[in-house]
Amino acid sequence: MSSSAPGWFGDFGGQFVPETLIPALDELTEAWAEARDDPSFRRDLEESLADYVGRPTPLYRASRLGADLGLELWLKREDLNHTGAHKINNTMGQALLARRMNKARIIAETGAGQHGVAAATACAVLDFECAVYMGEEDMRRQALNVERMELLGAEVIPVSSGSRTLKDATNEAIRDWVTNVDTTHYIIGSVVGPAPYPGLVRDFQRVIGDETVRQLAERGVAPDTLFACVGGGSNAIGIFAPFIESNRERDAGDRVELVGIEAAGHGLETGRHSASLTAGEPGVLHGNYSYLLQDADGQLIPAHSVSAGLDYPGVGPEHAWLKETGQVRYESVTDDEALAAFQDLCRLEGLIPALESAHALAGLRREAARWAGRNVVICLSGRGDKDVEEVARLLDPGGTS
Ligand SMILES: *Cc1c(COP(=O)(O)O)cnc(C)c1O
Repeated sequence: MSSSAPGWFGDFGGQFVPETLIPALDELTEAWAEARDDPSFRRDLEESLADYVGRPTPLYRASRLGADLGLELWLKREDLNHTGAHKINNTMGQALLARRMNKARIIAETGAGQHGVAAATACAVLDFECAVYMGEEDMRRQALNVERMELLGAEVIPVSSGSRTLKDATNEAIRDWVTNVDTTHYIIGSVVGPAPYPGLVRDFQRVIGDETVRQLAERGVAPDTLFACVGGGSNAIGIFAPFIESNRERDAGDRVELVGIEAAGHGLETGRHSASLTAGEPGVLHGNYSYLLQDADGQLIPAHSVSAGLDYPGVGPEHAWLKETGQVRYESVTDDEALAAFQDLCRLEGLIPALESAHALAGLRREAARWAGRNVVICLSGRGDKDVEEVARLLDPGGTS
């Protein structure tokens, strides 16, 4: 396949899957191509996002933290979505698409459980049978999200193979899909997986960026830079997408600088991190060719981050291409830097962010001097209620909490 073929981003992306899945991927590609231009689908999606998810989310001027950093700070409040993060934008979109494709059943993989909860939510409201694959180790660590999914009517299927975490759950979900593809749609949770998923999930998350463009224009604000955290990369690509397009029309000096922040965990030098783009190498994982964490023999290295949502050894292929073409800059911050930024936002703005989102704040903090007096937008991808216990434990390791 040539690199300009659909589903490729330069040399990255593609469909590295068993032959039996190709017809399902083709069906999905076609269904999306038709749905995206169909006014009745667009109307259903917009209505769901407005009345159920709670969009548009506000663009909030964070003046206290902005003053502390010496710049004009704008937070895109994805934390205010139903279920507490941007993931529902994608699960509602894909579930509506599955309904259009006459599927009766939806499956999903989940690590920390956030995507599983967002998928189970969409399945409850749109009346799908739902099965969520989750590693046994993750089920133990995220018992509350297992309860949530079950309350929402989903079946949580324990995965006991391998390290019993996200990568193993993904393999099992793919196996289920191969077997039940006639009746079942597989909702992938980020801009990863085989084509068409990376582009499909980006299209559903692009609403973040489109709203941001409109909200900045309404205030007469021209942004200088945007920061977003990158796990698989869906909230980042969602807010970046319209700016990537408009940057292509602009002279180098007028572009909005786009910065993706990965999780450096304990530090890149320790090898215990999730920084696939800043410290990984290209390879194939979960159906696509992109950057990932691997050793000299090509063996996958387990990812680490204080935030479960960034704890993934790969990254979406479009990000790999955006990095290689210099359209987005990627940096990484450590667990400790993210924890400090987490506390800043709590104390100065009364907002408890997801630990994932705190990475974007920490990335800005590190280079705040460079942006003095300028307009900075951060994608606040989710709220941090889920992280409160973990943060309390980390800040008071000897304590009783
Ligand atoms: C899952 C998650 C992320 C990471 O996923 P992306 O696909 O990189 O956006 C970031 N923030 C929150 C709040 C999440 O739940």
